[in-house]
Amino acid sequence: MSKPRAGIFGLTGCAGDQLVILNCEDELLDLVSLLDMRDFLMAASDNDTACDLDIALVEGAVFSRRDKERLERIRQRSAMLVAIGSCAVWGGVSAAERNGGLAGLLDETYGTQGRDYDATEAYALHQVVKVDLKITGCPIEKHEFVAAVASLLNGDPPVYPQYPVCTECKMRESNCLLIEKSIPCCGPLTVAGCGARCPALRIPCIGCRGPAADANAESARQMLAAKGVPEHDIRQRLRTFAPTGGSA
Ligand code: SF4
Ligand code: SF4
Repeated sequence: MSKPRAGIFGLTGCAGDQLVILNCEDELLDLVSLLDMRDFLMAASDNDTACDLDIALVEGAVFSRRDKERLERIRQRSAMLVAIGSCAVWGGVSAAERNGGLAGLLDETYGTQGRDYDATEAYALHQVVKVDLKITGCPIEKHEFVAAVASLLNGDPPVYPQYPVCTECKMRESNCLLIEKSIPCCGPLTVAGCGARCPALRIPCIGCRGPAADANAESARQMLAAKGVPEHDIRQRLRTFAPTGGSA
């Protein structure tokens, strides 16, 4: 059986998710042997930019007309399109709310020259094209990426946790920052998969993986209120990474 033809692409983002893929040291040779990697600019200078693909993995948000055209072209080329990283899944920091909107952002960053730049409002990939699979995280977790590729090669849909970071925090027996220290932590509302990395280091979760489908939002709201944590603090944090809503 021929190997699936794959491409990995970056739109507006920091390239952190592509770096995670390149940093899969122990699995990289297996990935290369199982996939026919045709188009991956970060890893190779000689790419086939026109061939049809079986799988396209796309990082970053749509933040310009060029991004939109590239994404639509990738979608045309590929049988399956996978959004990788919170920017691609949720819109990410590019789509975070700002005073003054896009015009204000361009003015503040580039002065009057910014008005000539090819910039649009920011969108998650599913707001522009059909997305077949989403792998969230800022950046994605290596183990979730490898498991997703293994599942896809096996013909199975990957399974991800729907429960919140809090659950992983309890599983590793970390002390709760919210209950014990009244520190605003987005763990109760954020989708698990990172192993509750930040609370384990005594750093509150800032919601970088986006909202959890199974989160008990009302219970979290009551607990935060009882701890004197303003609801809009948590809302603002969650909207930094997942301003577009939807589901991971
Ligand atoms: S999701 Fe995070 S790591 Fe990925 S491109 Fe966006 S900012 Fe970078
Ligand atoms: S604990 Fe929260 S902020 Fe930290 S990696 Fe996990 S989801 Fe992201």
